[in-house]
Amino acid sequence: MQRRKFLKNSGALTAGMLTTPIIAATDTYTNNPKPRTNVSKATIPIAICTWDFGNATAKAWEVLSLGGSSLDAVHQGVMVEENNLDNQTVGNGGRPDRDGNVTLDACIMDKDANCGAVLAIQNIANPISVARKVMEETPHVMLVGKGAEQFAYEQGFEKTNLLTEKSKKEWEEWKKTSQYKPIINIENHDTIGMLAIDKNGDIAGACTTSGMAYKMAGRVGDSPIIGAGLFVDNEVGGATATGVGEEVVRTVGSFLIVELMRQGKSPQEACEEGVKRIIAKNKDKQDFQIGFIAINKQGETGAYCIHPGFTYRTYTDEGHVNNPSGSYLKS
Ligand code: ASP
Repeated sequence: MQRRKFLKNSGALTAGMLTTPIIAATDTYTNNPKPRTNVSKATIPIAICTWDFGNATAKAWEVLSLGGSSLDAVHQGVMVEENNLDNQTVGNGGRPDRDGNVTLDACIMDKDANCGAVLAIQNIANPISVARKVMEETPHVMLVGKGAEQFAYEQGFEKTNLLTEKSKKEWEEWKKTSQYKPIINIENHDTIGMLAIDKNGDIAGACTTSGMAYKMAGRVGDSPIIGAGLFVDNEVGGATATGVGEEVVRTVGSFLIVELMRQGKSPQEACEEGVKRIIAKNKDKQDFQIGFIAINKQGETGAYCIHPGFTYRTYTDEGHVNNPSGSYLKS
């Protein structure tokens, strides 16, 4: 199986941008001292994303380095992949469901726990932008299917044919041998989840996907579900997921990871624990893919994935550092 690098991490340390994160002395919910405040090196602003979507983190970094908000950074960052027609797992050009319809899922969450999501939206190239409109222009969190599409048109989004010739041909090939079975596909899927901290120390996240290739019509995974595919708590940190969405939903994965960080785990420890809990519930299953990335308020990052070939790449403006994290765990 071909697999790409899991995470690209873009951050920088420059005199003008070195900002100490603003950290409450005690946790709001437990009243305990805030965990992990002893991190010496401030690493914010910072943006990280799942997989090897370096152009996306570069875009997020452009926003952050100009003093922009983490919300704008993650929004513009993930849009790079939504607009990338060669990326068949996100946005325009994504692989269709088994009926040949491209349906997209996305969500976004800001520092104040405002959030918006669209599920199974069709004909709209940038679902993350519609998710943000849901967050900012409606009293709701989620809009689904036709309702989401209708809302997008009302907000001025254009109708776009998302099924590229390449994705159409592949789908037609798939139909010849698939017997049209809704098998959870272990390879033809990915998601861009992105987390960022801006110069004020505020965290935001975004997550967008075309979901499982050739999924059943109407299937939605974890990616647009706040708490599952993405969660941000500005006091603690953020997490986002990629992989078999059904497993992430079952464990409310991203929320779990943020809560583990609240209890004192590092982002890396929290991601590992999240993955291990999923494996523990799936002892009989082989070869499925689950990955999380996380960031805490201090700008520390973590990533963990059950999949061979996984590496954890960090880079700053001081140079690129590739960290083979040894984070592939045999299931
Ligand atoms: N989590 C996505 C979904 O289940 C797919 C992926 O990230 O690979 O729809």
